[in-house]
Amino acid sequence: MTTSPRALPAPVQSVLDTVHARNPHEPEFLQAVHEVLESIAPVLETHPRFVEDGILERLVEPERQIVFRVPWVDDTGRLQVNRGFRVQFSSVLGPYKGGLRFHSSVNLSIIKFLGFEQVFKNALTGQGIGGAKGGSDFDPHGRSDAEVMRFCQSFMNELYRHLGEHTDVPAGDIGVGAREIGYLFGQYRKITNRHESGMFTGKGVQWGGAEVRTEATGYGAVFFVQEMLGVQGDSLDGKRVAVSGSGNVAVYAIAKAWQMGATPVTASDSSGYVVDDAGIDLEVLRQVKEVERGRIHDYAARRPSARFVEGARPWEVPVDVAIPSATQNELDQADALALVGNGVRAVAEGANMPTTPDAVHALQQAGVLFGPGKAANAGGVATSALEMSQNASRQRWSFGDSEAKLRAIMGGVHDAAFTSAERYGRPGDYVVGANCAGFERVAHAMQAQGVI
Ligand code: GLU
Repeated sequence: MTTSPRALPAPVQSVLDTVHARNPHEPEFLQAVHEVLESIAPVLETHPRFVEDGILERLVEPERQIVFRVPWVDDTGRLQVNRGFRVQFSSVLGPYKGGLRFHSSVNLSIIKFLGFEQVFKNALTGQGIGGAKGGSDFDPHGRSDAEVMRFCQSFMNELYRHLGEHTDVPAGDIGVGAREIGYLFGQYRKITNRHESGMFTGKGVQWGGAEVRTEATGYGAVFFVQEMLGVQGDSLDGKRVAVSGSGNVAVYAIAKAWQMGATPVTASDSSGYVVDDAGIDLEVLRQVKEVERGRIHDYAARRPSARFVEGARPWEVPVDVAIPSATQNELDQADALALVGNGVRAVAEGANMPTTPDAVHALQQAGVLFGPGKAANAGGVATSALEMSQNASRQRWSFGDSEAKLRAIMGGVHDAAFTSAERYGRPGDYVVGANCAGFERVAHAMQAQGVI
């Protein structure tokens, strides 16, 4: 990871030193902490009490971290053991809230970076949700439905005691979609003997889930791009868009980009990317990735206008807008320079921390509009909060109403980040704006609630 060349105020540097000493083997967590602490100096100047009250020292230490064994039996009768995590970072604004990620790369550093980001992202939505993240190094790919079910049941056999609609409310993330959420929710219901709808979000719409939750992260990222372009008197209409990934976020970013008059031309997975000059055919993409659970080259095999580029990322394709929607650190400085060289106007993070610090710097230096994930992908968790509201009041809102609410929330998130950047003397810098606005809300609440 890279560190900032800028000198930090002494109290911030001292907190960073402690975080490094305490978490030496957690590069992703350290990267996420750096990014926030480097941005919030102007807030600390305005509110020196935040420093005196030890807000920073407390914020960088999760309220609770749970690491547990997940034993299960595979289809051949062999015992498998995975590691489960839930990092409950902050409950100052509401119950712990954040997704579960099942992927072979998952470790404590990844879960802590995601949980830390979630605190500020959730604050920025303006809703009453705290921050958390969890998951496992279990990889559902190539596993049968029965194996996924047994894994999910074993995972919940431990985690259930730490969850609840007023305590901690998980949702999906990479590797955790409708199937996994169904098995996890079912096991919670079985163990607790409670049909507690609001203890999980992203549920099927037939059994307590909210309309638009599935689409929300991808839709929200595109709404955010539209907001950023709107400030410049521009819009997505007629733009070429590069999207990475082919999971839930990517699919619905592609869908909404089409609806806004743009042409999404790429999608990817860990094997490479496809570029389709006629625009990505959503039906074919979903058939390949969601129904067949296949690889992205199968898309190119079915579309004469598309080609598969093995082992590369889509950032070399000339586009006006890029929406990285795969995973952390998937867009580095060389990628950013390639995008800039091709005249990119806006980049918005559909995934969490997909852009490396060097790449963010390169994009901002070149005057590219950059929407950080805490703002640009906040639509997913914001719609989770709408799901919690519906569950609590036993209501069901229509797709149209829910999408209108999401759009309004993304407008609010954009405005909060935009005005905060202006207020703190960094107009147009959505990284500073999002971090300062999220941090301010969390810090005020921590101050009000005392040293706990
Ligand atoms: N995993 C999503 C995120 O990164 C959603 C979390 C949620 O809905 O709780 O924000």
